[in-house]
Amino acid sequence: MKYYLGVDLGGTNIAAGVVDENHTIVAKESIPTNAGRPAEEIVQDIFTVSKRVAQKANVAMESFTSWGIGMPSYVNPKTHLLVHANNFGWINFPIFDFLKKHTDMPIYIENDANCATLGETLAGAARNYNNAIMLTLGTGVGGGIILSKRIFSGYDLMGAELGHTKLVYNGILCTCGQKGCLESYCSATALIRQAKEALKDDSSSLMWELCDKDLKNIDGKVVVDASKRGDNVAKKLVDQYIDYLSCGLSTFVTIFRPEVIILGGGLADAGEVLFEPLNKRLYENTFAASVIGIPKIVKAQLGNDAGIIGAALLEKYAEKR
Ligand SMILES: [Zn+2]
Repeated sequence: MKYYLGVDLGGTNIAAGVVDENHTIVAKESIPTNAGRPAEEIVQDIFTVSKRVAQKANVAMESFTSWGIGMPSYVNPKTHLLVHANNFGWINFPIFDFLKKHTDMPIYIENDANCATLGETLAGAARNYNNAIMLTLGTGVGGGIILSKRIFSGYDLMGAELGHTKLVYNGILCTCGQKGCLESYCSATALIRQAKEALKDDSSSLMWELCDKDLKNIDGKVVVDASKRGDNVAKKLVDQYIDYLSCGLSTFVTIFRPEVIILGGGLADAGEVLFEPLNKRLYENTFAASVIGIPKIVKAQLGNDAGIIGAALLEKYAEKR
């Protein structure tokens, strides 16, 4: 049996897993990231947690086929420098040099959203398919594209930024500095912003009760729960959200024709109140849907494990560089 070491470096935790050749996690460990520390310290912790999980799985470090790390950044394939990790404040950090001090095995570093999409395609919601697109609907919108079971990220690996595709011309300002990105309309942050705006003009909405009359407590769940309970203001917000998201997804379907679309992140927990109308609206909004159909939109299945599995198996499935 071959074993692969995978790490998901997040803003809160560094999670590591030992993954076997059947795409199954056989052991997991995690430690707090304590973001804000120097890069060298965090990279040392990546090694520490990796070693710990290897011991737990009873696999010697030198026996692993490869070590893969998913994180919210990307490595320039020409310079091998980690270009920009917003959450950590790292710019052009020589992460490979630091990791190589610990091992001779092949090391792969990939954007975390790409890792999660790969993980779901190998072992989760899209395991029966070769072509999938995934969006993670959270604070921002992460995206990944898998074509023929390989991560697609474009020239110099700088593409596949699905959350920053343009949805509205001259629209709302995005965190990236552009206006009208999909993320500005389809993230949980966007839904919360829309809810707060709507509540300014409405004192009778059920959302007021669900947030204990404090707008700071509004989250995606408050909006979805109020909508499920028939609140008209919330229903309108969810409808509008579905309209925006279906338009964004229809573009991805028209360009890439995935076999399935996976939605992850907190908002995907809304369940059928989101997925049923979203599938319907995608059909209505997509080119030639009545002739060639549309891929089904499904919920991610693996949660945080997707990122670990995808990172671990980069050796087998990363785009060849
Ligand atoms: Zn943007």
